[in-house]
Amino acid sequence: MLRSFVTTTVACLATTPCVCLAQQAAAPAGSRLLDNSDPTLNLPVTPIAPGLRYVIGRNVSSNTIVIDTSAGAVIIDTSRPPASRAHFDVLNKNGVTKAAYVILTHGHGDHTGGVDLWKKAGAKVVAQENFAEFLQYQRMLTGFFAIRNGAQYQFAGGQGAAAQSRGSLAALAQSASIVPDITFAKQLSLDVGDTHLELYHTPGETPDHLTVWLPKLKAAFLGDNYYQSFPNMYTLRGTRPRWPAEYIQSLEKVLSLQPEIVVPSHGTAIVGKAEITRRLTQMRDAIKYVHDAVIAGMNAGKDARTLMDEIKLPKELDVGEGYGKISWSVRGIYESYAGWFNGDPAEMFSQSRSSVSPSLVALAGGAQPIADEAQKLLKSGKEVEALHLTAIGLEGSPGDKSLLRARIAAFETLIKASTNRNEVGWLQQGLAQAKTALGQ
Ligand SMILES: [Zn+2]
Repeated sequence: MLRSFVTTTVACLATTPCVCLAQQAAAPAGSRLLDNSDPTLNLPVTPIAPGLRYVIGRNVSSNTIVIDTSAGAVIIDTSRPPASRAHFDVLNKNGVTKAAYVILTHGHGDHTGGVDLWKKAGAKVVAQENFAEFLQYQRMLTGFFAIRNGAQYQFAGGQGAAAQSRGSLAALAQSASIVPDITFAKQLSLDVGDTHLELYHTPGETPDHLTVWLPKLKAAFLGDNYYQSFPNMYTLRGTRPRWPAEYIQSLEKVLSLQPEIVVPSHGTAIVGKAEITRRLTQMRDAIKYVHDAVIAGMNAGKDARTLMDEIKLPKELDVGEGYGKISWSVRGIYESYAGWFNGDPAEMFSQSRSSVSPSLVALAGGAQPIADEAQKLLKSGKEVEALHLTAIGLEGSPGDKSLLRARIAAFETLIKASTNRNEVGWLQQGLAQAKTALGQ
């Protein structure tokens, strides 16, 4: 039975199939943030409370959460292919053979991969009403996201952008066509047999994001609006603005419910009101701190790169940077408000700074002195500066082997030092490109 307080639409929202690409994803804390393992293996069904269990997703695949009711299971999120099939199978083996509803916390491909499987098990699909428009945005940029997702997530194992894009696309094709049976604007009440659920629109990571509230267990399911890292408020694979105010309001909405269980869609459940309040409050305050610091810096006339360097979270708000990074969020917030122009008059024109690289290389006496200088930078721990310098050198002297070798060394050192899942992906992409150029 379905009861709506505000706006309920029971409708088909899309008429053509779509390709949902691997989109923003989150990950649990610690070493698992860098988990590149096969997401289909070692998947127990973990109980959280009576009538509530989940399969924990790995390697940028969402959890699949199950609420057992007298009218069949309610599934929250379905992981990404191929993990979605493995989650489905292990739940089947554990008696979840029939589903009443699949609730999608948002339209990212790492949550929607198993929708068809659960529909065949009888489920109706529930999403927030912005879901269709969000899928259309992803579909419109299919080619762009194929390249970017392939680089960032390295699903195909670091074999270069093209192979990764193919792997990413093939793996995600199963989530191509999703038409929700039920959508809502702000709030939806859902009675499923003996179980009552409330769904709230809680935008943050995406505009169609929702939170599920299960009153009888005081359990909240908040998708990707919380995970154990600063949020990916700007994701390197490309995104529309993710507004800090929306994250903050959505976290406050969840806090106002006073949950005793919170199950995010990546990572493990948080149990206990005090710990939930501590963590969600800390995250809200960390986001607010970064946002307010960016605004203060903008009004003081500082540029985005200066603020990327300057803004750090105080110790009590340190939520980790295993997935999102403060510096990327700083620039993301800055440019969400101000756009791309940085005030340098030369930036008004299409000729980039790299247009003068051939002149610089000639002035330096060729590629070798630049490669030698890059090696000196590497010895003094300046890997990023070595990347900049070798990029200039290669623009003036394409394919130069000594420059490529310096570049490879810089990438290898940075990869070893990094603890951020997305950063490692892009560094591996750069390493693969340099090795390919060197014929390795
Ligand atoms: Zn996700």
